[in-house]
Amino acid sequence: MDDIRDAVLSGLRSPEAFAALPVPDHYRAVTVHRDEVDLFEGVAHRDKDPRKSLHIEEVPVPELGPGEALVAVMASSVNFNTVWSSIFEPFPTFRFLERYGRTSPLARRHDLPYHVLGSDLAGVVLRTGPGVQAWKPGDEVVAHCLSVELEHPDGHDDTLLDPEQRIWGFETNFGGLAELAVVKSNQLMPKSAHLTWEEAAAPGLVHSTAYRQLVSRNGAGMKLGDVVLIWGAGGGLGSYATQLALASGATPVCVVSGPDKAEICREMGAELVIDRSSETGEGYRFWRDEETQDPSEWKRLGARIRELTDGRDPDIVFEHPGRETFGASVYVARRGGTVVTCASTSGYRHEFDNRYLWMHLKRIVGSHFANYRESWQANELVRRGIVHPTLSRTYRLEDAAQAVHDVHRNVHRGKVGVLALAPDEGLGVTDAELRARHLSAINRFRLG
Ligand code: NAP
Repeated sequence: MDDIRDAVLSGLRSPEAFAALPVPDHYRAVTVHRDEVDLFEGVAHRDKDPRKSLHIEEVPVPELGPGEALVAVMASSVNFNTVWSSIFEPFPTFRFLERYGRTSPLARRHDLPYHVLGSDLAGVVLRTGPGVQAWKPGDEVVAHCLSVELEHPDGHDDTLLDPEQRIWGFETNFGGLAELAVVKSNQLMPKSAHLTWEEAAAPGLVHSTAYRQLVSRNGAGMKLGDVVLIWGAGGGLGSYATQLALASGATPVCVVSGPDKAEICREMGAELVIDRSSETGEGYRFWRDEETQDPSEWKRLGARIRELTDGRDPDIVFEHPGRETFGASVYVARRGGTVVTCASTSGYRHEFDNRYLWMHLKRIVGSHFANYRESWQANELVRRGIVHPTLSRTYRLEDAAQAVHDVHRNVHRGKVGVLALAPDEGLGVTDAELRARHLSAINRFRLG
């Protein structure tokens, strides 16, 4: 692996030289094990500790199939899907691998006793499989995480509708929290030349998701002047949703827990911020108990939003906390407004008062990751310095379990990075002039 690292760090990029680099038999990766999926039986959600289930170990390099690329991963980042995989909720991700493995002899490679996790990477292409024309060894890349087969007509309008659509590194094996990764070549996109490896790996999954959810016509179709309520605005998804709203001329109303996260939103340029925490802020309690919501709390949130916006209700609510907030989200959206949801962190059985939905002609839109085109457009915003990485802290691969633990416990800000083959932070910039032009913004969005 040292030869590969040295070649990348030396700036050598000739396709011939990269194609000539020997690929080792094994590589280091962050995994969960099939024989440990019962590890947390009887343990409360919050107490399930990813540091007990995640392994850093050597695994064999898989064979490369048609249309695939083997990438030397310089850096990756932690997404919430790795939290789900590491605590085996809502069920072990080995189920995805088994199902995928049954679809074809090539897919069978993924069904293993271990699962290499991770859905982001920044690195260099080492090898390409048969049929790959657009990418070659030596290309500096990031990878989006949508893996599709496209053998069914349904996926040919919007690839998210492909019945064989999967999230790489979550529903497939050979993910990005590793020294090497296998992706389909139509996941590859050019790395931003002005960013370091760890910065380049940070926006990927969450930025593309927020892009589809807010900007794309497949999502809420945000426009100039919209008021957008953003839950978790200091977290992964939310820090990109906030940037997208600001860059689109919309007005984000950022909800966070605690003054430091409120400060992050103000640093990003958002003026309207609500602290939801009970210690330092409004202390909303949307649920009286496990079964009963408190509509007076929805109203209190709505009144606070109006106070901040000169009486305007949100055109769009950017939803992902799920059960805990969904009733409030449906209530506070304006007449004819849109609640766009991509997740249910606090529980997937949502309850809301449907009278507010139908009488006020609101819409609920389901959204999931992003297709290649949407991911590409999101990546272009990063390459052009319109959206910036919101990286707070970067860990070494051997400390990845601690990084995942921090995200599970919600003690992180923005995105958390992981170095794979990159020996240190700060490497990988190939356009210093462009970086200098964007440096003050890069530093402003760095949440460390
Ligand atoms: P994250 O970095 O942990 O940020 C989520 C933020 O939500 C937290 O920082 C927290 O902010 C807020 N939050 C958490 N629980 C909450 C609650 N009960 N009520 C209100 N706010 C709450 O995670 P992320 O990367 O943004 O991902 C968020 C969710 O989206 C996860 O469930 C993830 O799996 C999912 N997701 C789905 C897709 C998809 O394609 N479908 C893509 C990306 C992520 P405060 O404490 O500051 O309020």
